Amino acid sequence: MNISSSGSVMSYRDSYLDLDPNYTDSNDQPLLRMTFNWHDNEIKMAQFTTNKAGEIAKAMNPESYKVNAKKLGARYDTRPYQTTHNTGGAIMGSDPKTSVVNRHLQSWGVPNVFVMQACVFPQNFGYNPTGLVGALAYWSANAIREQYLKKPGPLVQA
Ligand SMILES: Cc1cc2nc3c(=O)[nH]c(=O)nc-3n(C[C@H](O)[C@H](O)[C@H](O)COP(=O)(O)OP(=O)(O)OC[C@H]3O[C@@H](n4cnc5c(N)ncnc54)[C@H](O)[C@@H]3O)c2cc1C
Repeated sequence: MNISSSGSVMSYRDSYLDLDPNYTDSNDQPLLRMTFNWHDNEIKMAQFTTNKAGEIAKAMNPESYKVNAKKLGARYDTRPYQTTHNTGGAIMGSDPKTSVVNRHLQSWGVPNVFVMQACVFPQNFGYNPTGLVGALAYWSANAIREQYLKKPGPLVQA
């Protein structure tokens, strides 16, 4: 059997998405550029949870066990599988200066645009995002049906 652990990544000012100044797609549109790297917290968290998993394995008194002490690389690398829960980029929030969509996932700037994806997460957590993506889509659809369609326009005044 295998014991694995998942950490989470805090929201850092130096982690962001923007339009790539050099690379474009087949329509000459700029590609999305991701700027991200581990901070000390992620590296320490990974070491801590790996050690705890080792203690749990040992306490189960198995005939044998092995702790995979492979550390996070010095730099983030998209190639190895690492649960691949990359979220954020168009985050929800209460202030249009620091977020892209309001609590109903409605664009602050363009009120007839609603964004229902993991990109609205202001903070990633350690576990599976898809349930929350679905729940937020229901939440947003309900606001569209119950509020927006009756009175189109911004649902939150800021
Ligand atoms: C290998 C792998 C395993 C995973 N396992 C799990 C798991 O077990 N449990 C879990 O909860 N999560 C899992 N995830 C994460 C989960 O898949 C994502 O968090 C989730 O799919 C995010 O949903 P989304 O709607 O935000 O984005 P996506 O599902 O990526 O949807 C984005 C959509 O936008 C479309 N799109 C992109 N650009 C354009 C454009 N210009 N115009 C029109 N459409 C566009 C794309 O084609 C895509 O359909 C896994 C991810 C990976 C990669």
